[in-house]
Amino acid sequence: MAKIHYIYDTESCKYVRDERSTSDIILNTMMFLSVTIGLSVGLILLYTNYFESPKELLLRNDVREIEFEIAELELRINTLNTVLADLTYRDDRVYRVVLGAEPIDKSIREAGVGGSARYDDIRKKQFAHKEAIIKLSESIDKLRRKVYIESKSHDEIVQLAVSKEKLFAAIPAIQPISKNKYTLTSGFGNRFDPITHIFGPHPGIDFAAPSGTPIYATADGVVDVTEIAFTGYGKKVEIDHGYGYRTRYAHMNAFIVKVGQSVKRGELIGYVGSTGHSTAPHVHYEVFINRAQVNPIYYFFNDLNPTEYAKIIELASVENQSMGM
Ligand SMILES: [Zn+2]
Repeated sequence: MAKIHYIYDTESCKYVRDERSTSDIILNTMMFLSVTIGLSVGLILLYTNYFESPKELLLRNDVREIEFEIAELELRINTLNTVLADLTYRDDRVYRVVLGAEPIDKSIREAGVGGSARYDDIRKKQFAHKEAIIKLSESIDKLRRKVYIESKSHDEIVQLAVSKEKLFAAIPAIQPISKNKYTLTSGFGNRFDPITHIFGPHPGIDFAAPSGTPIYATADGVVDVTEIAFTGYGKKVEIDHGYGYRTRYAHMNAFIVKVGQSVKRGELIGYVGSTGHSTAPHVHYEVFINRAQVNPIYYFFNDLNPTEYAKIIELASVENQSMGM
């Protein structure tokens, strides 16, 4: 049985029977609820538009951090590129020039690292800063390739330096006698022979020094001739230095090396004497390049200062008498 409701009528000042139907009440309630829900949704939308949730705030901070880190990485890559550019410059303009190698072609250094498909995996993904990450990956790959090429170039330079070191060690570069122990008596060229009294070619330099003065190898090499003779060069030593260089030391009092023996520049090989075709103790010194005798004066550069060098050139150019051969 439905309940009977009374409401107070203010006009008649009496309680009268409530004539509103149940459906009216439901309708009113529904309207009230709709307005309330509408207002609430409106308020929530308003709030979320103007204020961030803690999760959103966290995400926004994350994004800011990522942007900051990307910018930092770009800076670091730029610094590495600058350092590498300096290494590349020195490689091409100094090391390769000194060692006689061609600079590496720019197109090789700047070559790409493969097609655009390389970053397809990243492109397929959906996330913010995708393009920035692809750009970063490209920069790193380019840098990696440049470093690889530079490291290969350095390997080559090291190889060249090692072989050049051997070459430099093989070039006669000092005098066979200590510089304050001799007198230069005869230079390279036509000289008067004191024994035959003939004016003829003198294919070496004569260093006059007391008998027994040490004679040194003028470059690294292998002794390939030792000879004892009573004429000509007398007691002599010849050293093969490789790369076409050879030296000859003649009129020795004695030699202390054997054929096949390796010697270093500055190593004692024998002593000054006056054996063979000679008039007084001296060492007759010859330098050969590819079997041709050259003026040894140009192969003393290691142990003379410019003044001493100028003096020795002047002395060697005076046409005088040789001390034998
Ligand atoms: Zn001589």
